[in-house]
Amino acid sequence: MNAIFLDKDGTLIDDIAYNVEPQRMTLCSGAGPALRLLTALGYRLFVVSNQDGIGNGRFGEEAMVAVGARLAQLLSRERLSLTGFYYCPHHPSAALARYARHCACRKPQPGMLLQAAREHGIDLGASWMIGDILHDVEAGNRAGCRSVLLDKGHETEWLPGPQRTPTHTAPDLDGAAQLIAAAHGARR
Ligand SMILES: [Mg+2]
Ligand SMILES: [Zn+2]
Repeated sequence: MNAIFLDKDGTLIDDIAYNVEPQRMTLCSGAGPALRLLTALGYRLFVVSNQDGIGNGRFGEEAMVAVGARLAQLLSRERLSLTGFYYCPHHPSAALARYARHCACRKPQPGMLLQAAREHGIDLGASWMIGDILHDVEAGNRAGCRSVLLDKGHETEWLPGPQRTPTHTAPDLDGAAQLIAAAHGARR
């Protein structure tokens, strides 16, 4: 299986900090056509999301059930579906002790992508990570995927690092899908 790993906030969903209210979740502009192009090429869609709001006690893990259901609803309206939704509830300095750890899943760690690959038989070398900050890029690259950075002004630190260079940069999901489709065609 070939996957498109999507960051959630600011990439797939319009970014509202720490929002878990389903009714306030909206797809980013152009997400539907862009993701339909990718699914037509055989890619399956996965969301991989850092949710340290859980570790910091802003909301409980049960909020992710409603968020996942809303994601499914928004995508189904676009005739799309999600094959997997993974989130990391941890943070090294989380307020809730049970979530306070240096885990393997919080991006820029690649753990969520590696878990999805194990659970779904994903060919990571044929898969892509799309995100709006360099932690997404690094997670994708470390998992062995190619990566697209959406340059929407959400990355502000630009910390350097060997795994933090995206394969491509695009203004939005439509641009990312065009680049991935072009690379897909070139490889065949
Ligand atoms: Mg984001
Ligand atoms: Zn984690």
